[in-house]
Amino acid sequence: MGQPGPAAGRAADPAAHPPDGSRLCLACGLCCRGALHTNVLLLPEEQGPARELGLRPESYPDHLGFRLPCVHYKERRCAIYPARPAACRRYRCALLEACLEGSLPLEQAERTARRAAGLFDRLEQRLPPGGVLWTLHSDQGGEAVELPRQVFRQWLFAAADLEYFLRRHFLPRR
Ligand code: SF4
Ligand code: SF4
Repeated sequence: MGQPGPAAGRAADPAAHPPDGSRLCLACGLCCRGALHTNVLLLPEEQGPARELGLRPESYPDHLGFRLPCVHYKERRCAIYPARPAACRRYRCALLEACLEGSLPLEQAERTARRAAGLFDRLEQRLPPGGVLWTLHSDQGGEAVELPRQVFRQWLFAAADLEYFLRRHFLPRR
């Protein structure tokens, strides 16, 4: 995801707000990291081009897509930005949408993106080694991981902070 479609129109300052939204997305990359969605939807005709870019389309119950975080998400941005798939070009989170329509100054949007990245980092830092809070028991092929209560509480608060922030700034209002 991560990258927008064509211009949305009335940005206050065309130089500060490139009509394709690239400046904000290249400073953000949060959706590529899997913070907003678990996968990127692909149209059937987008599968081949996605494979050529090194992505692995998978079948989900009601659509095709590729999994997030994306293999091309590096150093907080898309590493193949000019060649990103059409599905990524189409996507606009609520923050980008507000920026492109001119209701949110770009600098403020960039600050919000940085804050979200910091909250996501904090959550990741609170995960135990291996990046999972718990796994299935051995009869299902995994191992139980026991977490100290305090670690679990810290993780829970970090997750709640991030979720609140993402709903407020990045996800469309319902
Ligand atoms: S601004 Fe939105 S669409 Fe752009 S990279 Fe960040 S989360 Fe993705
Ligand atoms: S290809 Fe680029 S824009 Fe698309 S999800 Fe991956 S990192 Fe994000």
